[in-house]
Amino acid sequence: MKKRLNLPLYQKILIGMLLGLLYGWISVQQQWQFFTFNFIQPLGDAFMRLLQLIAVPLVLASLVTGLAQIKDIASLGRMGIRTLILFLTTTFLAVAIGLGIANLVQPGNRLPADVRAELQKTYTGTQTGSSAALTGQKAIEEQPVLQFLADTIPKNIFSAASDNSNMLQVISFALLLGLALVLLPEKEGRPLLRFFESLNSVVLKMVDLIMAAAPIGVAALMASVLSSLAGNTSGALDLLLALGTYALCVIGGIFCLLFVLNPLVLLIFSKKFKPKDVLFFYKSIFPAQLLAFSTSSSAATLPLTFERVEQHLKIRPRVAGFVLPLGATINMDGTSLYQGVAVVFIAQAFGLDLSLLDQLTLLFTSVLASIGSAAVPGAGMVMLVIVLKSVGMDPAGIALIIAPDRLLDMFRTTANVTSDCMVAYIVNSHEKED
Ligand code: ASP
Repeated sequence: MKKRLNLPLYQKILIGMLLGLLYGWISVQQQWQFFTFNFIQPLGDAFMRLLQLIAVPLVLASLVTGLAQIKDIASLGRMGIRTLILFLTTTFLAVAIGLGIANLVQPGNRLPADVRAELQKTYTGTQTGSSAALTGQKAIEEQPVLQFLADTIPKNIFSAASDNSNMLQVISFALLLGLALVLLPEKEGRPLLRFFESLNSVVLKMVDLIMAAAPIGVAALMASVLSSLAGNTSGALDLLLALGTYALCVIGGIFCLLFVLNPLVLLIFSKKFKPKDVLFFYKSIFPAQLLAFSTSSSAATLPLTFERVEQHLKIRPRVAGFVLPLGATINMDGTSLYQGVAVVFIAQAFGLDLSLLDQLTLLFTSVLASIGSAAVPGAGMVMLVIVLKSVGMDPAGIALIIAPDRLLDMFRTTANVTSDCMVAYIVNSHEKED
């Protein structure tokens, strides 16, 4: 009995996940939706809230203390540039893989012509062509291209910190604060730094407490996801088959990221990284991947990502403190891959031809849209609006892919978190000994 209680966290989460799936499956067969909705779902919701409630203090404290530990500005600059280059390179590669798979498999073309014509009538409205140039121009008229940069700066830190989807604004405030602390004479900055260091320790303790509830929370999340997915499977068989192929394209692409791209990037860019270290890397971050899969939120997973990366991958806190909060918010390989596949699928289902220029536009807008996606469930799908508009398609097309989205969110969040850990590992390997 005692031994069972001492199982490592990832095993407990895994057991919770399996029990949740088993319960979800039985509850769908037995029509227990009422009980699941009223008594199981709130448990998962409570766990998600516990994770979300520490997101802002965690990001703030870890970034400020992370930055303040870097004594010289040049080394901060080097680390920042390395991190951004890795974030962007992997995100571009991810979209390219997504576009490649979608063009190869053509999941939307599996629909019979009459279903496609029907869909086009329902969703595309008056928009007919796929002229990227035209819509691009419209977008410029609506909003300045660089507005997204301005939007990363909060007008008021308290209102930014009151909403988890404004994490990028909290980050820009924390970066400025951390930078000011580095530049200030040590004596003057020390009291505030002490405060943030203490906040950091307290938040990490809260994470420990919350993680004790992870197996139950994860079980409840899996059970409610399964029962809501089951309610979504009505519809024409042809559409279901096409949607299934589309979902397999996304999942296949994510597996490519996890088992091909990530190990390759680690091997190429990390200092002193041997092929056998791939196993060590994955073993160390596995619990964070499981939590990402169950919560569909990089932000909610962040506390555990920190723990795995610092305690198990032995990455310096100042590197983890810089790379992970930034990565959770802007580095989303899984999301960008998914966006590429989703847009091609919707275009094919509507019978629209995407030109090479459109596909290139897709590449860039998917990267930007994934950077702009908040690290919460469903955010990647909401940002698809921008990507669809960039190639002249009606955003209402999203309706087509809503059904399997929660499932795909689980996979893409896992890839997002894995990529953050990978970048932290690579950046850490290039840092000089302390
Ligand atoms: N749920 C994802 C994340 O938190 C974002 C997305 O919806 O793709 O990383």
